[in-house]
Amino acid sequence: MALGFLAALSAHALPQEAAVPGGLALVRLGNGAARPQAWFGEKRVAVVRDDQGWVALVGLPLSLEPGVHPLRVASAGSSEETRPIRVAAKHYPLQRFTVPDHRKVEPPPEDMLRIAREQKRIDEIKALFRDEPDVDLAFRQPAAGRLTGRFGLRRIINGLERMPHAGIDVAAPVGTPVQAAGAGVVVETGDYFFNGNSVYIDHGQGLVTLYCHLDRIEVLPGEPVAAGQRIGLSGNTGRTSGPHLHWTVLLNGAAVDPRLFLPRTKR
Ligand SMILES: [Zn+2]
Repeated sequence: MALGFLAALSAHALPQEAAVPGGLALVRLGNGAARPQAWFGEKRVAVVRDDQGWVALVGLPLSLEPGVHPLRVASAGSSEETRPIRVAAKHYPLQRFTVPDHRKVEPPPEDMLRIAREQKRIDEIKALFRDEPDVDLAFRQPAAGRLTGRFGLRRIINGLERMPHAGIDVAAPVGTPVQAAGAGVVVETGDYFFNGNSVYIDHGQGLVTLYCHLDRIEVLPGEPVAAGQRIGLSGNTGRTSGPHLHWTVLLNGAAVDPRLFLPRTKR
């Protein structure tokens, strides 16, 4: 009875597996008493428990080559081992669109210092690993609206090749309430050159969500947020082709398709 209750408490709704670039792999790590640790490349990865035991959640970057990649695993009482992750190829369609403010697409030299400073901060956030045993994995869509820009699209903006789309877009008029996808702690807020007014939420163990182009930010760094708590209003700031909410999910520093974390009916 007591055991069953504990198991129910610690069970996690795992995200959907998609072992492709821009997806995530689920690797079973046995049922030992202590939580194993695991690394993909240099990055430590999330390890959670469900009713069958420990599971590593491995974010696979969009830039990853298909093939077999090693996950390093350290479990209490045994030597470090390597587990293979088989990553299949995935074709992402090409998208062309126009951004009215061309300066956001081809920034002049005077913007480069700011962009470099912001990139450094983003890289710091991508390297976060807060040892939170109870990671909230069952996300909700952070704003009401139709999902428009799909994840992973290769992009030609104003005729220039740019980085692929590292999140999904929700069509939302300026002023639509934006909610935290899951429980966590706000780690960063600010006005970013490309992303506009942005909020980063750390959910623990290298799972971070990012909300971009906001009209208004209503939380502060260091503030804990509950799942579904309002964090601001959607807008049209930064590099946009019109009002929308851009939502990114980072897992061990890799942007992965946020729909993998939504209830199946939403995917
Ligand atoms: Zn977007």
